[in-house]
Amino acid sequence: MPGSKVWSVVKANAYGHGIEPALKGLSLTDGFALLDLAEAKALREKGWTGPILLLEGLFAQEDIFTATDLRCDCVVHDFNQIDWLEALSEARSGARLPHIFLKMNTGMNRLGFTPEQYREAYHRLHAAGYELNHMTHFANADYIDRTPSVDQQAELFHQTREGLAGATSLSNSAAILWHHHVIYSDWVRPGIMLYGASPSGRYEDIKDAQLKPAMSLHSEVIATQNLEAGDSIGYGSRYRTDVPIRIAIIACGYADGYPRHAPDGTPVWIAGAEGLSSGKICLMTGQVSMDMITVDVTDMPHVQVGTKVEVWGKHLPGDKVAQAAGTIGYELLCAVAPRVRRQ
Ligand SMILES: *Cc1c(COP(=O)(O)O)cnc(C)c1O
Repeated sequence: MPGSKVWSVVKANAYGHGIEPALKGLSLTDGFALLDLAEAKALREKGWTGPILLLEGLFAQEDIFTATDLRCDCVVHDFNQIDWLEALSEARSGARLPHIFLKMNTGMNRLGFTPEQYREAYHRLHAAGYELNHMTHFANADYIDRTPSVDQQAELFHQTREGLAGATSLSNSAAILWHHHVIYSDWVRPGIMLYGASPSGRYEDIKDAQLKPAMSLHSEVIATQNLEAGDSIGYGSRYRTDVPIRIAIIACGYADGYPRHAPDGTPVWIAGAEGLSSGKICLMTGQVSMDMITVDVTDMPHVQVGTKVEVWGKHLPGDKVAQAAGTIGYELLCAVAPRVRRQ
């Protein structure tokens, strides 16, 4: 996005990747955007001195002191937040006021001022001495046939803010990837694409965009079983084989963040005889349990206790696992549980 500054979105613990690694990996960004003051604090403690944007602004009036101490900028999306900011501006003793990204609801209907409310919100904050920028969020940047379209939302946005000073911030990952030729904004807000997953939930959609999964979730085989025709596997005996098969038991379950609703046939990457890079996809068989999944390795005779497994990552994008499980990469990445060791 030539000419645009970048808010790197690191909410939800940097989409499950950890604030500290995200700071290392994204240290050349123009700013970080997140929701949680604890995460803003972590960025400051790790040495980030640049801008931080609170994407949902203040949740309570008293948060204003932490936010200003941490030199956070604020999205403002409702009139309560304006009341609090007016009070801050009256009470301030020369302290830096946060910069504001005023959020317009252009059809997403989640957060923001309607076009009818927008100018009043702008003028109140302007009168209170705040530096203002304009922002909206797209509902359908990963679709071509749904309304409101990116074009409709952008047009409403620009109409409504006409004549009001301030920089703009529009695009999320999907708009950056698929609408960059029509949508310009001074600040873009990429999230999921920074981590190498697809905004649409389909890895094929980003495979030519030179984005690689940043996270690999590894485990290993902790047991194998030889099953006879008619044997079943795991809770509820969901999978029953009608031929002899060999299965591997892998240490990873829903307590690690693996989706419990993953059906039989969900892909798992099992290392080949020379390691992970010579591995291949095997298929899950049987119900995901708290600490284990079970995978058919009948045609991988070298598999034994200790064989490495990539649950998702470099060889098997998380988007593909997510798709098999009826969800999107975002959810799997964010859901990796605290007990999983991070490197
Ligand atoms: C999460 C979020 C983003 C980033 O979205 P991606 O789809 O991950 O790129 C951008 N803007 C806002 C307001 C968000 O909440």
